[in-house]
Amino acid sequence: MVDSKFSGVSSMDSESENGGDGVNYSGHFQIDTVFPSYDATVEWAKEIARPIGCIFVSSSYKKTTDGRLYRYLACNRGRKKRPRDLENVIRKDTKTKSVGCPFYIKIYYKKSTDGWRICAKNDVTGTHNHPFIVYPEGHRQISGLSPGAKQVVRNLTRSKVAPRNIMATIIEQFTEDHPNIRHIYNCTSDIRMEDSEGKGVVQQFLHLARESHYIYWVMTDDIGVLHHAFMVHPITCNLLRTYPYVIALKAEFPHTAHLLCRWHINKDVEAYVTGLFKERTVGAKFKNGRWKRVMDAAFEPEYELALQRLKTSWGRYPKVVDYVESTWLSQKEKFVTCWTNKVMHYGNVSTCRVESQHSAVKSWMESSTGFLDTVWARVHCQIGNQIVGIRNALEASRSKVG
Ligand SMILES: [Zn+2]
Repeated sequence: MVDSKFSGVSSMDSESENGGDGVNYSGHFQIDTVFPSYDATVEWAKEIARPIGCIFVSSSYKKTTDGRLYRYLACNRGRKKRPRDLENVIRKDTKTKSVGCPFYIKIYYKKSTDGWRICAKNDVTGTHNHPFIVYPEGHRQISGLSPGAKQVVRNLTRSKVAPRNIMATIIEQFTEDHPNIRHIYNCTSDIRMEDSEGKGVVQQFLHLARESHYIYWVMTDDIGVLHHAFMVHPITCNLLRTYPYVIALKAEFPHTAHLLCRWHINKDVEAYVTGLFKERTVGAKFKNGRWKRVMDAAFEPEYELALQRLKTSWGRYPKVVDYVESTWLSQKEKFVTCWTNKVMHYGNVSTCRVESQHSAVKSWMESSTGFLDTVWARVHCQIGNQIVGIRNALEASRSKVG
């Protein structure tokens, strides 16, 4: 069976650190299973080694004389046997104290079964000559999360629980796993990858929207960059159908104010001015200049001033001034910042823009950064919460007299 030794490993000798427990561990690895790949075999062996407190290192691929592949998995304290007198000298490798541990198993490819098998010998190569790891937190390989813990991380991640809170749960429920926050982060990023099945962020964003039956509309440019996305939560849409008077009759529902989409207003303003002057740059100049100051005014005096300046600058073109006043500014409470800020609108001043969604999310969530797809999931959660709030309010308005 196994004739070669793991390179550099000598048999148990008198110089070995005498800290082994004398137990032969080869029995743990004697298994008839044929694994589909080398990696799968290693995965299995590491799972077995973990509770024992042993870390494996693998050798490179080797070939038997008749061309069959094999590799060794050896104890990480087996490599590079150093003479005793150098042990106390400053060493380059301070990570692992090599003590020439004899333990190794062999993983080899078996052509007849087209799979990988493990060979563990019931001799000195099944023993360790050193104590096992006592503080597993520092050793990634053996402190990786167990399948049970991973499942919990998965569930919590999907429920949008913050990593540090996930960490607290794992510590409480899986003390054996010795988790640290790195493991949680690694695990959550794996789950994200897993959930998105390799889709790009935008594709994933749309996929989530489709899956949750959102009504959506997106605008991309020629090279496929997403510029605007408009999404309506299906229940929100139903609420509007069921309670159209909520929008029509504000008096009936005093806490709901209908806001106009700033993005559409800007489009309309730009198109109107462009049409008037037959010159695209003029429309853009108006929209991004005087008009923007009016839209963005944070306080009423600022609004008045901005409007005055707009009238002064564009006074020679009364059509422009008339248009913005009659078409839009007559409803200024519904879109100019200083009024919309007084209304509970969750940051959605512009109902169309992802940036707006993002800034809303920023204030809801503790973290200010997020990928579009994770942000989507958070917004989705948040809308769910809002719907509960709206339904409560609706119920209250129905049961109250007045
Ligand atoms: Zn060992």
